[in-house]
Amino acid sequence: MASNSTSGVGKTILVTGGSGFVAAEVLNAFLSRGYNVRTTVRNDHSADKVKKSHSKYIKQLSFAIVKDVQIPGGHDEAVKGVDGVVHTASPFLLQVEDNERDLLLPAIKGTTEVLASVQKYAPNVKRVVVTSSFASLVDISKGGRPGHVYSEKDWNPTTYEVAANKDTNGAVTYCASKAFAEKAAWDYVKEHKPQFDVTTVCPPMVYGPSGSVVTDLDHLNTSAADIYRLMNGSCKEVPETSFFAWVDVRDVGEVHARAYESPEAAGQRYLAASGRYTYQKVCDIIRKDFPERRNLVPEGTPNAPFPDVYGIDNSKVKKELGVEFRSLETSIHDMAVQFIEIEKATGKA
Ligand code: NDP
Repeated sequence: MASNSTSGVGKTILVTGGSGFVAAEVLNAFLSRGYNVRTTVRNDHSADKVKKSHSKYIKQLSFAIVKDVQIPGGHDEAVKGVDGVVHTASPFLLQVEDNERDLLLPAIKGTTEVLASVQKYAPNVKRVVVTSSFASLVDISKGGRPGHVYSEKDWNPTTYEVAANKDTNGAVTYCASKAFAEKAAWDYVKEHKPQFDVTTVCPPMVYGPSGSVVTDLDHLNTSAADIYRLMNGSCKEVPETSFFAWVDVRDVGEVHARAYESPEAAGQRYLAASGRYTYQKVCDIIRKDFPERRNLVPEGTPNAPFPDVYGIDNSKVKKELGVEFRSLETSIHDMAVQFIEIEKATGKA
């Protein structure tokens, strides 16, 4: 599904949070179309890592240091002269010290501050794509919710009070942070009537090989760590599946570029899901493709029937953005190959 078109030549896109797992493929999707990409990172070290991972496109890449996404006016300089914006920077952490400080505020204020800078200082921007999440539509309190089919019509109903409470589980607050941030983006457009429209992309668990430089398997991003634990011996049993929907990171990058370029995507929300999965299926794939690691991957009940849980309607993103998604087999296989290479390179094997 990757594009080699030249639709972006002569235009500049700002991508916030360039050091992230998802952002690495957002960068690739735009860079491969010929866009110049300016990306925000929090420090020079992160900029150096992005330069290394995206060295093929070095001439199209530039950087702006923004130490914290929620600083008022923090993006004023970064947005100057750009033609479009993709806002990915947001904490994806499931355990934090302070739910409001560490999850809710950076997600929500981060989004509104980026939009405010764009409105003030980037008159050429006609579209801002915001990376939201399936977290923004799921109702965790309903669990597997048999019979329900999640689509763009759903909203996570967690209240701010519950999300901010210190006793609330970090996963619940993370999900709420994405819903509040996405709502903040829609509200911003309604209230401030800026020169741009907004499109939101809602991926579920994002897997696949990382487009970033990864040198430390003990500090992976949250969704990569979610898979690595299934193949490094740390899970003795197949864990209960947390969310039953997934997508490949390379496809998420492509969805962002299409969401930016498609005139029909104005004001739209896209559930960017490949399909459903369970951790059992992931373990089955790794055990089949990498028999030499079977002692490190929990066996569970191989080929167990799919549990009676919610469905996923991804017809809108497929139809309107023409997206074709990679299979779980491809995504997990490619991810495992990369983990094994990193283990060898870092002496962990
Ligand atoms: P990563 O942890 O890899 O990336 C998060 C990015 O956000 C990093 O660039 C990080 O910078 C930046 N960031 C976090 N907090 C701040 C802050 N306060 N100020 C400035 N930058 C900040 O996670 P992902 O790539 O997985 O997540 C990226 C986006 O994708 C998020 O919006 C997330 O909610 C969304 N998403 C991810 C899914 C997944 O399964 N991975 C699923 C659905 C949505 P630094 O590296 O310096 O910390």
